Amino acid sequence: MGERYAVQQRLAGWGRSGQARLATATAVVVGVGALGGAAAGLLARAGVGRLRLVDPDRPALDNLHRQVLYTEADVDAGRSKVEAARRHLSSVNRQVTVEAIQDELDQSNAAGLLAGADVVIDGLDHPRPRYHLNRACLAQGVDWVHAGVMGTGGQLAVIRPGKGPCFECWAPPYPPAEPKRSSATHGIFGPLPSCLASLQAAEALKLLLGADQDVLAGMLLVELWPLGLRTVEIGPPAVRRCPACGAGGAQDP
Ligand SMILES: [Zn+2]
Repeated sequence: MGERYAVQQRLAGWGRSGQARLATATAVVVGVGALGGAAAGLLARAGVGRLRLVDPDRPALDNLHRQVLYTEADVDAGRSKVEAARRHLSSVNRQVTVEAIQDELDQSNAAGLLAGADVVIDGLDHPRPRYHLNRACLAQGVDWVHAGVMGTGGQLAVIRPGKGPCFECWAPPYPPAEPKRSSATHGIFGPLPSCLASLQAAEALKLLLGADQDVLAGMLLVELWPLGLRTVEIGPPAVRRCPACGAGGAQDP
């Protein structure tokens, strides 16, 4: 593995065997904006062998205060986010294979985009595609790390098919209403998504290294202004069965 990973390999439970495990892993990053871009950067630096980046957009000037992978040159060149990200990540770590897919995840393509994934990072900035991501991850038995940010606060949860509540267990019924708050109405504090993305990368690495017992349970709520962290429980719905995974509701006698 060489010396580039020497410092992280000294961590308990990592070592050469953990590094070798990461080298054969595939992480899919859906949405390569502020969350997904920062998370992908950390996973590339950690030596995750294959990164598949999925995003339909191009970087814009008003992304640059929070989207740490992109530069003014990327905006000027009109590159797609996935291509700009691929160039950047390949320059960070040439041992990592980066697939750049300029597309939007939806019901029809979710299964294909997630094929072969060992873990998925949710970098989406809109709730609707998360339902399709959730269903596809349930079908394929793939763990995914959800995060969302708005204003100065955000949330983080790890969704593990068959091992805990899925996204639709606690999210509003599909189709979700248009969000009342958006980056256009409430803004996004620049340091916030990188903070959540670091937490996403940490949970993803623990999953890939097999440290299941140390993965976040429940939902972490993060507020940066003023600073505060707390974890709340999430579970299957009490009065109905989850339409995606079937958990919850009244139990049969
Ligand atoms: Zn469910």
